[in-house]
Amino acid sequence: MIITVLGSGSNGGVPQWDCCCANCTRARVGLGPRRTRSSVAVSLESGQHVLIDATPDLKQQLEAVGLIPRPDEAVHHRQSRIDVVLLTHGHGDHTLGIGEFSTGKSFKIPVYGPPDLIRFLFGSPGESTFFGDLGRLARNYVMPNELREVESLVLMGGLKVMGFEVDHTDWLEDGTLFPSSTYGYELEADGNRFVYAPDLGLLTDDLLERVAGADLFMLDATFWWDDELKRVSGLKKTSYDLGHVPVEESVEILQSVEIGRVVYTHLNHTNPLLAPDQPMASIVEDAGIEIAHDGMVIKI
Ligand SMILES: [Zn+2]
Ligand SMILES: [Zn+2]
Ligand SMILES: [Zn+2]
Repeated sequence: MIITVLGSGSNGGVPQWDCCCANCTRARVGLGPRRTRSSVAVSLESGQHVLIDATPDLKQQLEAVGLIPRPDEAVHHRQSRIDVVLLTHGHGDHTLGIGEFSTGKSFKIPVYGPPDLIRFLFGSPGESTFFGDLGRLARNYVMPNELREVESLVLMGGLKVMGFEVDHTDWLEDGTLFPSSTYGYELEADGNRFVYAPDLGLLTDDLLERVAGADLFMLDATFWWDDELKRVSGLKKTSYDLGHVPVEESVEILQSVEIGRVVYTHLNHTNPLLAPDQPMASIVEDAGIEIAHDGMVIKI
């Protein structure tokens, strides 16, 4: 399978609209790469494409990597090159692009996600919520499907998909997660295994066991330090408060596991990994880990 990084930034992308920190300024003036919100497209030998997460930048991302209608295949000029959508969780940087599919041509694209996420986004029959009704999205354009945790789904081209719960979103007093629980996804085709967890609060032993022996593990690199937002933006929330394991720690933990390729994604604009005058990028490189960029293509 071929994994194309559509976006490698976190919630605000880089540059972030309301920020003039050194990383944002560099990206704004073209001295550093711009990063749209995190998402990947997984392309199968059989020609189909799976989209993991639908970001607010979806339209530009699909155009940028050429996942656009083919004149020789499109009927009346219309074609969806996306065959299936997998959603990790309910935060806006991973879901807002779903509205893009409401364009008057019904492709009935299956959309899978944790059951509480599917209900949060689309509601239930007879009681739809925002995205269910928006432009008749869930009535005409996408087919929401609740995917139970670790339920193995076999899709086109023999692709096996499994969603597994990871720590990221906030627990409420009633024992539910807000706005939804969070999945990482494990995809397997032709004996190759890809694990994707762009928003990840803890690298647990269970997760390390899961990624051991994978051909590719792409994971959360939102913040380098736990107190990064305080250092750069004067905000109180820590990386752990926001459900992200700091890279400073994950880079160490990952040394104990054998994985084909490890790639960091979902970088926040505050992350010193983006600063050429800081040693963080070299620390990651010395650890044998790569940093994703928009448009990066990985074949496994
Ligand atoms: Zn995110
Ligand atoms: Zn910034
Ligand atoms: Zn998130």
